[in-house]
Amino acid sequence: MDEATETPRRWLGEYSYPTGHRVIELVAIVVWVGCTAVLAARVVVAAADQRSVLVAFGLVAAALAAYLVADVASGLVHAVCDNLGSVDTPVVGQKFIRSFREHHTDPLDMTRGDFVRVNADNFLACLPVVIPVLLWVDIDQHLFVGTFVLALTGLVIVTNQIHKWAHIARIGEPVPAPVRWLQRHGVILSAEHHEIHHTPPHESHYCITSGITNPFLTRIGFWPVLMRGCRVVGRRFAGSPAVAE
Ligand SMILES: [Zn+2]
Ligand SMILES: [Zn+2]
Repeated sequence: MDEATETPRRWLGEYSYPTGHRVIELVAIVVWVGCTAVLAARVVVAAADQRSVLVAFGLVAAALAAYLVADVASGLVHAVCDNLGSVDTPVVGQKFIRSFREHHTDPLDMTRGDFVRVNADNFLACLPVVIPVLLWVDIDQHLFVGTFVLALTGLVIVTNQIHKWAHIARIGEPVPAPVRWLQRHGVILSAEHHEIHHTPPHESHYCITSGITNPFLTRIGFWPVLMRGCRVVGRRFAGSPAVAE
């Protein structure tokens, strides 16, 4: 039976993994939304207090930097999960590596998952960034840091959804009109751009937020170096230099 097409509907949504896992995902989403709302409010208040042309320029620059960093970060995580370790690697094997490896054999599986299943891991991954900033960074003093973190984590949590939309568009299924516009203008990952990664040997174009940094990283030969590093580390520690099919 295809687990993806037969996902059972339960009281916490449609999922086929343990309910304890689902509860953790939902808690991560609620905590992230709460923390981000407070952080956003602090950024807005500080920006209003300090408003000037220079501050406006700094806010835009911080957001643009986050846009680029989010894309590179998505590529790094994706490339490492595709090329280092295996599904048997302790802690991260089943939770993270498995979904990346299976994505190459069944790219449409993620299009069948509900919002929580597709996006919860990224909410979880952002908590160790958002919570310390909320607790220990004075946003009045570090407005651009707050803006950067707000934009970065906001982009990270929508990355899997953007990836999912690229695959939905690839099979000709409808996506929301604003999403289609953003895809067409290269603001977020498009189906055509992401198809390059899904074409064997799957060794480039790992970035999946906007994909805007893929041409540059490919041109400077970043991916072969990273994959060589993964193979060296894999041989040394895991004995499994697994490579995407
Ligand atoms: Zn991949
Ligand atoms: Zn994909």
